[in-house]
Amino acid sequence: MTTTNHATAAYLGLAIGDALGSTVEFMTPREIAAKYGCHDKLIGGGWLHLKPGQVTDDTTMSLALGTSILALGKVDALAAAQAFDDWMRAKPVDIGNTVRRNLLQFRKTGNPEAPYSDHDAGNGAAMRVLPVALATVGQAEAVVRAACRAQAHTTHHCKLSDAACECLILMVQAALLGADKNHLLHTYAHPLAAQHPEFKFRATKQSSNPSGYIVDTIQAVFQSFFDTDDFRSCLIDVVNRGGDADTTGAIAGMLAGATYGLEEIPDAWLKVLNTQTRQSCEMQAASLIQIAQR
Ligand code: MN
Ligand code: MN
Repeated sequence: MTTTNHATAAYLGLAIGDALGSTVEFMTPREIAAKYGCHDKLIGGGWLHLKPGQVTDDTTMSLALGTSILALGKVDALAAAQAFDDWMRAKPVDIGNTVRRNLLQFRKTGNPEAPYSDHDAGNGAAMRVLPVALATVGQAEAVVRAACRAQAHTTHHCKLSDAACECLILMVQAALLGADKNHLLHTYAHPLAAQHPEFKFRATKQSSNPSGYIVDTIQAVFQSFFDTDDFRSCLIDVVNRGGDADTTGAIAGMLAGATYGLEEIPDAWLKVLNTQTRQSCEMQAASLIQIAQR
């Protein structure tokens, strides 16, 4: 394996999971089964009326963040907040409530750190951690943690969101450096649940209809990721649970891509993914890991 291959697969996995899940976002598993049987194609549609292969905020916020990191050569809170604010001004297809509220606050105050709130425990910061994971891979844990928080706190300043963001970043980085799924389970996923019992996912019955609450999101993603053995099965499993399916798809796609590499991504999905999105993901993946190596 090469790090570039798996970094690129993580970014394409994020985008493909987003595009695949957006078709069934806010549907229940029963509604999905009635309409599609098993939903496994990039056909667009959904409540946002997307084109096949079109992505949503999960991917476009990640790309906005990645652009700001590449421009500066490092992760920076103010640059990230500015990039997200510019992204919001460009009228994205969707935007989370917590993201909007705290970016409007940033416009007023110029402070890139949102006020602490236990209520801001949505998945909006976790869905866009990938550029930070790539730009800090192999660096000291204190550096990784600071970069993780600088990014996340622009919109979500909350201990459960922080714990999830940090866990996802460390998992992606370990996967890029060759760790297998068993290692990711025991070194990162179980310790997250040990530290914050809300996240226990083995004790939870098969998660269905996961909400945008970071705990629901992580439980669905971890169940799908750890209970399947390839990229395609993982994504199909997680999006057919419905709920916030574009975001569970994006996060699961990122983990599965980082773990399994490019060879595992089905051509049928890669061909339909929006061409400009695909090129941006490929370019950013390669460039961001060079920042980490400098
Ligand atoms: Mn979305
Ligand atoms: Mn979503």
